[in-house]
Amino acid sequence: MNAFSRRGACPALSAPMQTGDGLLVRLNPVAGGPSSGGLSPKLLIGIAESALRHGNGIMEVTARGSLQIRGLTTDSAGRLATEVDALGIAVRTGVPVETGPLAGIDPQEIADPRPLAERIRAAVEEAGLTHRLGPKVSVVVDGGGQLVMDTVTADVRLNAVRASAGILWAVSVTGDSQSANLFATVDEDAARDVAVAVLRMVAEKGREAHARDLSERQLASLASWHSVAPPSVLPDISPTRGEIAHSRSPSPISTAAEGVPAPELPISPLVGEMSGRTEGGASRKPIGLFPLAGDTFTLGIALPYGSMPADKLIALTQTALTLGATEICLAPGRALLFLGQPTAANQTLQHTAATLGFVTSATDPRTRIAACPGTPACASGRIATRDIAETIAAENADILDFTLHISGCAKGCAHPGPAALTIVGGENGAGLVVNATAKALPAGYRPGYDAARGIGRVAAMIRSTRYQGETAAACLTRLGPAGIAEAYRQE
Ligand code: SF4
Repeated sequence: MNAFSRRGACPALSAPMQTGDGLLVRLNPVAGGPSSGGLSPKLLIGIAESALRHGNGIMEVTARGSLQIRGLTTDSAGRLATEVDALGIAVRTGVPVETGPLAGIDPQEIADPRPLAERIRAAVEEAGLTHRLGPKVSVVVDGGGQLVMDTVTADVRLNAVRASAGILWAVSVTGDSQSANLFATVDEDAARDVAVAVLRMVAEKGREAHARDLSERQLASLASWHSVAPPSVLPDISPTRGEIAHSRSPSPISTAAEGVPAPELPISPLVGEMSGRTEGGASRKPIGLFPLAGDTFTLGIALPYGSMPADKLIALTQTALTLGATEICLAPGRALLFLGQPTAANQTLQHTAATLGFVTSATDPRTRIAACPGTPACASGRIATRDIAETIAAENADILDFTLHISGCAKGCAHPGPAALTIVGGENGAGLVVNATAKALPAGYRPGYDAARGIGRVAAMIRSTRYQGETAAACLTRLGPAGIAEAYRQE
């Protein structure tokens, strides 16, 4: 096995990953501007031009806010790396310690998470953990504010909370903000120590290990070692952070003590949003205008299904540059945040983006659909995922209040977690999986070319049977897998 075929690794420039449409490279630029992950428009254009020259011209922004370039060969990946290097773009290496896209510049954040993130990076390096941890072990440091990191999964999460003693950090392990287990609320020094202690324990279990592999006893020892703050956390003015995570995430210690099993979730508005977390969740989507200091705004524009041809990305970035944008920040939720342009320019930029096919509204139905490249882009694909997605988004926007996953095959690249509904390509055509992942057994099938019509049938049933005020997601729960599959198969 060589570096180019390593599975489970984050394909940084030096180690692209094999996919169905060639090699894929993932870039996490180090902050160049005031935000935590920004690029100048000229640099983004430079990268996109390299993607056009050396890849298949498809660029992506992932759910975690990384930039991906697809369709490379071993040779062209090398040339791309040389060009990116020549552009002077520093990419992040080592254990990812991620902060929100507006970290340090959001007037609504509880605390600037960047100093703590930097201290953790330094401590991880100093402890010699970088090469002892697997490539997918990560830390999220979330200062709260307008664009939080709720939907980004991590081994260790640190969320700023306001407390009577000042700013504290709620430390939890394994998952996103809903599923992670909170076990300590501590000051910044202790937060760094606890985070590094967790990573050290993970490293001791080997490079395949994650924080989920730690025992309750190990976590309990960390919680008791550090002083846990009294529950005097103050209400947070932001809608989704602070004490909310505190109250929703049971301690693994208390759960174990009480022997409470994890609740089984039915299909609900929460499932689609909170299970696989491709888009948004309870958090605000990074699409639209967000106020910054000094009466300025950043404008968030998303890539449909996280993907766009490089020439369209160049056209949008060129317009942004002309309008005065100085920085473009990659945002979790498959979006780009444009910074620096005068407020009056935002409408023009938004209009250009919409014309080019980008997502400019948080209510765009495409934000509710996770779709991988599928056929013909991916050799493993059995269905034309993006075409199916476009048809469904155009015809059934009114019922899409849940996440619909359209997967070219059972691998489920676009949405590894469960979704309320998943269309998955396979030998029998387009299977429909209810409330599970793409790997689950479908409840019904249709020919691949006809999958959008099947969802149309499900949508028609929702419209005709849902109660007043009932969400489509709740209606799906009521109908159950058998009823949904029957509608899906209808001629
Ligand atoms: S899920 Fe989609 S992108 Fe992933 S391997 Fe299958 S067809 Fe290709």
